[in-house]
Amino acid sequence: MHEASIALSLIDVASEVLRENGGARASALTVRVGAWSSVVPEALTAAFPACAQGTPLEGAHLNVVTVPGVGECPTHGPVTLDVRRGLRCPACGAPTPTLVQGDELELDEIELAEPQLEES
Ligand SMILES: [Zn+2]
Repeated sequence: MHEASIALSLIDVASEVLRENGGARASALTVRVGAWSSVVPEALTAAFPACAQGTPLEGAHLNVVTVPGVGECPTHGPVTLDVRRGLRCPACGAPTPTLVQGDELELDEIELAEPQLEES
């Protein structure tokens, strides 16, 4: 249910953008999900179609881009973190309590659908 509420809030944001674009519809949506956010990409894409029903996003394809976690090691600088190992430098094991990236959940791109031509 967690992912459904996330899908709904993404749809809210995207619908707002579409309204500002003159009521366009979207054919695809790209979101960036950090590996360290608690979001499961598969669950999000699974929840999306039902959540999008009745919105300008209905029928749009959801692309999820996973952003790897990056921490700051005192010795090695920015290092890519392994989720299974926790907030530790993979090279020396030093704690890297600050997450530089990897906990984001953001709308990256909205692909607008071709406007439907009026029948004349
Ligand atoms: Zn290190």
